[in-house]
Amino acid sequence: MRPETLAIRTQTERTGEKEHSTPLFLTSSFVYDSAEDMAAAFADDSLDVNIYSRFSNPTVDEFIKKVCLLEGAEDGIATATGMAAVFSSFMTFLSAGDHILSASAVFGSTHTILTKYLPKWGIEYSYFDLNKPEAIEALIKKNTRLMYVETPSNPGLDIIDLDFISKLCKAYNIILIVDNCFATPAVQQPIRFGADLVLHSATKFMDGQGRMLGGVVVGKKELIKQMYLFVRNTGPSLSPFNAWVLTKSMETLFVRMEKHAQNALHIAKSLEGHPALNWVKYPFLPSHPRYEIAKQQMTNGGGILTFELKSGLEGGRKFLNGLKWLSMTNNLGDSRTIASHPASTTHSKLTEEERAAVGITPGLIRLSVGLEHPDDIIEEILQALPQ
Ligand SMILES: *Cc1c(COP(=O)(O)O)cnc(C)c1O
Repeated sequence: MRPETLAIRTQTERTGEKEHSTPLFLTSSFVYDSAEDMAAAFADDSLDVNIYSRFSNPTVDEFIKKVCLLEGAEDGIATATGMAAVFSSFMTFLSAGDHILSASAVFGSTHTILTKYLPKWGIEYSYFDLNKPEAIEALIKKNTRLMYVETPSNPGLDIIDLDFISKLCKAYNIILIVDNCFATPAVQQPIRFGADLVLHSATKFMDGQGRMLGGVVVGKKELIKQMYLFVRNTGPSLSPFNAWVLTKSMETLFVRMEKHAQNALHIAKSLEGHPALNWVKYPFLPSHPRYEIAKQQMTNGGGILTFELKSGLEGGRKFLNGLKWLSMTNNLGDSRTIASHPASTTHSKLTEEERAAVGITPGLIRLSVGLEHPDDIIEEILQALPQ
């Protein structure tokens, strides 16, 4: 079956009621038929039996299976949030004395883990610029164990050649982790380009309707086995209820991503060249510096675009205040179009130089393009721009 069908037709359980839709197994634990069965379940970690929902749950397993099939992965684990996925992957594979090499343009909380927490436990990090891939190799050290990238990155929409970075990691025996949150497996499958692990904040496009938090990591079986034991013992497991929401959301992932991308491209093209803007950035606009690479590794440009107001920081605030119905929030990947102004909100505590280093200029607006009629979105944006 093709991925579009697998996203809809993958069902791991059906109860005696013969329900059509996916059942929700809202149970913390599972029972046994005999003392021997119970003893066996605990004696052998590799036994495919549900014990306790912190370890595994049929509804959670269905969500994981869908993501594995769509990403082309051998196995996966689900977590309570995207950050739990990021943190669990770092904690599973990094020990005191190890080094992680990461793109500098990463999600804010990922940056905090790298810079504030890992050093407390004797783990070193270094940053590289996604736009200078030729400089990465020189930053690899003897103790480099993990490589971490987002592509496209948040909020800069920078793109790295996945084939290039995975070959580099293989040559040095480094585990490559890709945060594929902005693209989703409907648009980009990093494992097909050689990534070892792919993770997501399922909170964003995977749910796609701003209802819940979740995370998922998929990849090589032997790596996921180690992560599974970390999550099973430390507890950042995904709730069965959220997994049920997510497995239903996955049924519409392909149609949603196609429409998000269609709307976003239309809006990006309409805004490009507007006299109030310095530039518009979107992976599938020919003006994007990595347009050719985006075309190679993504099937569409995704749902996020950015533009820069000539009127700077103050202009960014004015633009948000000029919006009539478009949502002002820091979330993204929703059926509702969302505008955010990183310099005065999520990244306001950084200095202007620090912001510039991760591609955030004073007048930068990030638009998470929703599923409304594109003409309504355009009209709303135009009326809020300086006339
Ligand atoms: C939101 C986000 C995260 C964190 O996910 P949560 O579900 O909020 O914990 C990680 N990476 C990227 C790229 C994100 O956009």
